[in-house]
Amino acid sequence: MDRRHFIKRGFGAMATLGLGDTILLTHGAAQATEQVLNYTPVLAGERAGQLRKVKNNYRTARRVTSVCLNCSTVCGIEAHVVDNKVIKIRGNPLDPNMGSHMTCAKGQSGPTINDYPERLLYPLKRVGKRGEGLWQRISWDEAYTEVADRIKASIASGHPERVALHQGRSRIDAEINRFLSAIGTPVQLNHRALCSSNKRAANYVSLGETDWESIDAERCKYFLNFGANFYEAHQGGLHLVSRVVKARYDHGAKLVTFDVRLSNTAGRSDEWHQPFPGTEGAVALAMAHVMLRENEFDQAFVDKYVQPGVATLRTWLADCTPAWAAKLSGIAVADIERLALEFARARPATVAFSNRGVGAHFNGFNAERAVVMLNALAGSIARPGGYCYGLDEKLSIGRYPQPLPLPPAPKIRTDLEDPPEWPLANRWQKMKVGQIVYDFVRQGRAKLDVYLTYTLGSPMTWPEGRSTTVEVLLDETLIPFHACSDIVYSETAHYADLILPDATYLERWGLDIRNNLELTHFVTLRQPLTSPPGDARSFADVLFDIGRRLGPEQAKYFQFGSHEDFVRVQCSKLPTVGPDGRQFKDGFEYMKFYGAFVDKSQPKPYEIYRKPLSDKQLAGARIEAGNGVVYRPNDKGKDSAVGLQVDGRAVRGFATPSRKFEIHAPEITQVAKGLGIVDDGMPTFARIPSHVDLPADRFILTSFKWNVHTQGRTASQKYLSEIVHDNPMWINVATAKKLGVKSGDMVELTTYRPRSGEHKAQQAYRGTGDAIGSARMRVFVTRGIHPRVVAVSNSLGWISGGRASEGKSGWRADVAARGISPDAAKGYAPAPALDDLNAGVWWDKKNGGRGNGVNINALLPINPQPLVGMQAWFDTVCSLRKVSS
Ligand code: SF4
Repeated sequence: MDRRHFIKRGFGAMATLGLGDTILLTHGAAQATEQVLNYTPVLAGERAGQLRKVKNNYRTARRVTSVCLNCSTVCGIEAHVVDNKVIKIRGNPLDPNMGSHMTCAKGQSGPTINDYPERLLYPLKRVGKRGEGLWQRISWDEAYTEVADRIKASIASGHPERVALHQGRSRIDAEINRFLSAIGTPVQLNHRALCSSNKRAANYVSLGETDWESIDAERCKYFLNFGANFYEAHQGGLHLVSRVVKARYDHGAKLVTFDVRLSNTAGRSDEWHQPFPGTEGAVALAMAHVMLRENEFDQAFVDKYVQPGVATLRTWLADCTPAWAAKLSGIAVADIERLALEFARARPATVAFSNRGVGAHFNGFNAERAVVMLNALAGSIARPGGYCYGLDEKLSIGRYPQPLPLPPAPKIRTDLEDPPEWPLANRWQKMKVGQIVYDFVRQGRAKLDVYLTYTLGSPMTWPEGRSTTVEVLLDETLIPFHACSDIVYSETAHYADLILPDATYLERWGLDIRNNLELTHFVTLRQPLTSPPGDARSFADVLFDIGRRLGPEQAKYFQFGSHEDFVRVQCSKLPTVGPDGRQFKDGFEYMKFYGAFVDKSQPKPYEIYRKPLSDKQLAGARIEAGNGVVYRPNDKGKDSAVGLQVDGRAVRGFATPSRKFEIHAPEITQVAKGLGIVDDGMPTFARIPSHVDLPADRFILTSFKWNVHTQGRTASQKYLSEIVHDNPMWINVATAKKLGVKSGDMVELTTYRPRSGEHKAQQAYRGTGDAIGSARMRVFVTRGIHPRVVAVSNSLGWISGGRASEGKSGWRADVAARGISPDAAKGYAPAPALDDLNAGVWWDKKNGGRGNGVNINALLPINPQPLVGMQAWFDTVCSLRKVSS
């Protein structure tokens, strides 16, 4: 038999794939059927007249609440659903962060992924070589058996830790934890070190009990923003920006932004300052110097609640003068002096905050700490209009129970999820060091039997994704078995052995929680708005189904039923009477109706650190002479710090070892010592080794995110890729002049690994300074970028994920299967989202468009920062060369 006759080719054939059929899916497969049908794509201008406008009847629509997950902000939403189709998304006003029907553009676009032509519809098993793209459709039963048998073999061999689950943005942590704990493996890998671990660690080390501040923005008078692009792409940005805008209009609050690039936020600020990359920490320290020098700080707060005291701070900051910071950063001395005093004089309704622009550097942990410290000096911590934080922002099992029995936490540890080189990575929460996973596997630092991936776009979104990541994913001796759960045929799926088609966030369950800028506890429910297409199935249900096929020791943890049943239990302690008096059978029904529960029983935690300890909290407590820390034996009989003696009263203080806001954290000195690193425990500034003596012909490459894209979730959403699908390199006019280029000209970009400095603390990962790779791209010449910096957006340059992300046109062979005759469909598109895509991807280069951009992550080195391990995304040194094409 000639097998070619039985192999279907391209995504177009997916919908008609029978059980046992074989399909070839390769990169760029979205265009595969184009040649077959000789289809002429319809161009943008022509298309407008050909698309039929479909009028939605909202009166017949079902209103269903849920939670958006098109970015990490997880806004409560309300959907209108007709005939298993979401026709409209808007915000759920009961979500206190949102408080209105507003969503961002990404939120609006979300439903298009449900109808996306290149959705994965069936479980697929690899039948060719790994990475060849040859798959056979199998049943879920076969898929479950395959995964379960392999996990059982790992358990039987005494190595459950050889089962690893690597996730992108999941929002089903409790479910994944249960699955891995039942197996006995701790290896749950995440992407936090590629995202925000320095910011989180800085908040934890300073405040002790939160990883993310909830700025009391509406009451704030002064926003000192170090590198956060919250008008566009910040976690919680939509919620923050609406309040910042209100504060600016209502009472003239000032917004000052430090950023190397004229981001949307910088452009809308009252002042924009461009520091040399990675010097924001020095600027923050110099501002602290000015505040102390001018006695413009909250002496009472610092004296009582800050470690160390004022005298030590003055000594430590003595050399951090504005002139010192100006030399490093390029920010004028007069500006540093003026901004420090403006910020300080607006106290306590004043905030200094940050995000990746500060944290994603080699020195990012201390820079983030220096920024948070400014709030302590201003006494704005937990004050109205200040740097506030919520207290109860996790799905704690006491409040949100889970089905019993609960599996015990695994006792094993491995270098993969707890690498000893970065001892602060998992100190406060599981932040791990995701970017080193593939290199560690290659080095033999950990062995894997079963590698499960979920919403993980590592070949596309990881540094060295197209080299280190792909090399390891292809190597069957390193990863003997890889099962990938995804929505579309991603680059990760391409290198799997088994593909598990996932439900989108609009087709599945989940209880979700987020910090609340209104400073009250709240929780939201994600519920399916429509059913998934084909055999696609939510990953939580897949894990539970596999769990039941493991041995009895594991299966007992999954007897509760489906993911819906799991969430029902989680909601069991929620109220049954709604805010409008409606009665519900249980908390789950309550949540299904309202979509959100807000606990208004507690006051806002303003000045929570001053709260007196109750008699119950003080029972059996002792006060340490000298530092005033209140200790009480914990459950294990060990002394635990629970409060602080202030003005003769025992108060809560901060949840740090000293119960004070810790500018000085002795724990860091200890941890660093274990690595042979001398660290004073203060947020001391250190230069980035690779940036010292930067030659005139070298630049620093930064990347950024658009308001319509996340790193990996949005490219396959047609409306979003239609808005942004191209990412020319931003270069300063001075750089352009030197190179002799103008906007639209081509350059070749070459990137280099970091260089290590002399000291142990300056050792960079693979710090050789060697070249990594090159790419050619167009330039966009602007004054909106620092002269020593070039910037390329991430999120683009996909070689998988279907026509919207790949920027490829092409007709689909399965149109008939979807009720559209190919003849009718050739002329125009009778249904909106799906057929608009069929009618042509106008940004396809073959249609005269600009294509889908460049994947900049491929050229960035794996570069974890010391101690915490966050990826230093914005440190990469590069060179440029003018080329003709
Ligand atoms: S901000 Fe994020 S979660 Fe909120 S609507 Fe937009 S995409 Fe959805």
